[in-house]
Amino acid sequence: MRISIEEKSGFCYGVVRAVEMADAILDTGEVLYSLGQIVHNEMEVKRLEKKGMITISRDELPAHHNCKMLVRAHGEPPSTYEIARKNNIEIIDGTCPIVRKIQSGIAAKGAEKNASIVIFGKKGHPEVEGLFGQSPDKSVVISSMEEAETVPTYSNLHLYSQTTMDTEAFQGVVAILEKRQRQAGGKLVVHNTICGHVSHRRPGLRKFASENDVLVFVGGKHSSNGKVLYEVCREANPRSYYVGDPEELDEVWFKDAETVGIAGATSTPHWQMEMVAKKIKSFL
Ligand code: SF4
Repeated sequence: MRISIEEKSGFCYGVVRAVEMADAILDTGEVLYSLGQIVHNEMEVKRLEKKGMITISRDELPAHHNCKMLVRAHGEPPSTYEIARKNNIEIIDGTCPIVRKIQSGIAAKGAEKNASIVIFGKKGHPEVEGLFGQSPDKSVVISSMEEAETVPTYSNLHLYSQTTMDTEAFQGVVAILEKRQRQAGGKLVVHNTICGHVSHRRPGLRKFASENDVLVFVGGKHSSNGKVLYEVCREANPRSYYVGDPEELDEVWFKDAETVGIAGATSTPHWQMEMVAKKIKSFL
């Protein structure tokens, strides 16, 4: 059996940056809090928590004072920075520069007199909350094409996307909003803010999945891009399986397989995919 790991799989640039920031502080022995899971990958979170990182929720933030707090790659709304300032919390800002740019764009549009904003993303996702928080009075969040049909029409509407949304679904939303805006005589400005680290992986991933007898996709249970990229694999190869941990592998999946491909989300560390490869080898 030949086992290979897809070359583009592994942490994206934004996650590498935030994890390196956390590791650098934890290596000095300092206590570091993380506002939410640093990455949607349970095994990587456990690795950092073993080094002393403490994960807290946004609701718990006001109870903390005089400490160091990591903002993960997803970013945070301005209200988080305001609480940190009041509570003398030093923010270690791991917001991905790509997300930061989108936040700034939304904040700038929100400051314009006649602009209205639609954010296409998963409601409640931390990145979406960070984007929405830049201009809460002018923004609405939609998660589907059905919801796009319910957005009121505006004279000057700006559309943004969560960075990990599906490109085709985004184009569907664009078509619906364009039609509705045109009919109402309004303008639609489309800001395609889907991250290339996710969308550009699709063709390579599709090819990789179809070239292998079995595909194992490694990703966290809450990883949005993991779910999107796994679907790409599953469409190309029905023998695709999603695992969050090598222990979830089932020997029967590999029956008669000559080639096995391993791929991962932008939040999957390379060491975890290597553990999966090792476990598959142990079945031989
Ligand atoms: S997926 Fe893209 S936007 Fe999101 S953290 Fe990674 S590099 Fe940044």
